[in-house]
Amino acid sequence: MGLWRTEILASDTQLNQRSYYEASCSRNDEPRLQESIDADVLVVGAGFAGLSAAIELARGGMQVVVLEADRICSGASGRNGGQAIVGFASGQQAFEQQLGPADARRAWDMSLEALDLIDSRIAEFGIDCDRRLGYLYVADSPRKARALEQEMQRTERDYGLGCEMVHGDAVRAFIGSDRYCAAAYEGRSGHLHPLKYGLGLARAARQLGVRIFERSAVRSLERGTQLRAVCDRGQVRARFAVLAGNCALAEYGPGVAAEIRPRIMPVGTYMVATAPLTQAKCAQLIARDAAVCDNNFALDYFRCSADHRLLFGGRVSYTTMTPRDLEASMRQRVRRVYPELATVPIEFVWGGFVDISMNRMPDFGRLGDNLYYLQGFSGHGVALTGLAGRLVAEAVAGQAQRFDLFARLRHRPFPGGPWLRTPSLALAMWYQQLRDLI
Ligand SMILES: Cc1cc2nc3c(=O)[nH]c(=O)nc-3n(C[C@H](O)[C@H](O)[C@H](O)COP(=O)(O)OP(=O)(O)OC[C@H]3O[C@@H](n4cnc5c(N)ncnc54)[C@H](O)[C@@H]3O)c2cc1C
Repeated sequence: MGLWRTEILASDTQLNQRSYYEASCSRNDEPRLQESIDADVLVVGAGFAGLSAAIELARGGMQVVVLEADRICSGASGRNGGQAIVGFASGQQAFEQQLGPADARRAWDMSLEALDLIDSRIAEFGIDCDRRLGYLYVADSPRKARALEQEMQRTERDYGLGCEMVHGDAVRAFIGSDRYCAAAYEGRSGHLHPLKYGLGLARAARQLGVRIFERSAVRSLERGTQLRAVCDRGQVRARFAVLAGNCALAEYGPGVAAEIRPRIMPVGTYMVATAPLTQAKCAQLIARDAAVCDNNFALDYFRCSADHRLLFGGRVSYTTMTPRDLEASMRQRVRRVYPELATVPIEFVWGGFVDISMNRMPDFGRLGDNLYYLQGFSGHGVALTGLAGRLVAEAVAGQAQRFDLFARLRHRPFPGGPWLRTPSLALAMWYQQLRDLI
């Protein structure tokens, strides 16, 4: 097991970190694969991307098996900020440059479809996951306020997504903090309890006949017209496979798809949950029960939970080492935004890895005719993973136009190879974080 994963597990023990999400829902065990089975499609990874693919494939009449190395949504999908955000981490300009305006527009529309898909699945499968609409972008300096306003104007002009932009004293009507000098409220994005949502997707997949195995890491994958995935105690043969293993794929089965590993980088990001506040206090901290995110490079993202805690995320680690002073530094970040919460207990501290691609665009593609992969969600995976699963199912069924729009995107590997790419990224990011201070 590689360094980055060992580190996050070690920190789990040190900080007694069960995430707030794990503590606020219950789950059942799924079986471990202990046999040899055949399927139409094998999905590797039971995060949002793998579960979404499984649901769509099963709907299309395929026999689907999902193999999960750990537990359902124990990776990024069950640990994240829960912010379901319109668009892509790269911004639309990157799409326009690579694909031209018409396909950039199609990609944008699909990012809206990704948000609708969350709501339609919640409704169809009765998933109770504290879904809320409303999103607040905030800026903490005049330079970043100008950047935010320009970005919002451009999005409204070119893509028709309007927002309420406010400056100065008016910001206080949206967020109870003196830290920010501008804010933009947008109503399409929002938030949810990611683990409740993910476990709901797993239930839905099972209802559709999908077989899910936990603690069943794929250690190797033989390619060919028939694919064969080998786990410690069993194997699956399938006509197609979808790799949705995110950053951990390279750890559990280093040889499974070694060629796509250099195209994403695991970046650690961390969250805390305070003790419950009151509903009135939450409304004072963040109006309209929105999710909040600043526009710094190393950003803060936060929101209130359904039981009125502040869930606050931020503090990235590009070295893949869990910061030693994690709880104290997260408390410091909370205090910078809300000084009055300085004495409120922090009850949960946890973290996980975001799969960023070099250009922050999603990286979907094929390794041969029958082996697909989905990665590089770059911090926008809560919504985009659902879409990715739908697109890959379309491609497996022979309708690949929408999948291929993304598969056409050019991606570069991170420089430096497996050992040097992390330090070189860290240097680049420290520079960006210095710029945040301006
Ligand atoms: C702390 C944190 C905060 C975040 N906040 C947000 C946010 O607010 N909004 C947003 O849009 N995105 C956010 N993200 C990113 C988002 O969570 C991810 O983009 C998304 O969950 C990725 O889903 P996935 O299914 O691709 O990967 P994962 O959820 O990581 O699932 C991959 C699964 O594959 C399994 N696996 C890997 N290799 C193998 C193998 N060989 N065999 C079997 N199984 C394997 C893993 O165990 C894992 O369960 C955040 C991420 C983190 C860590």
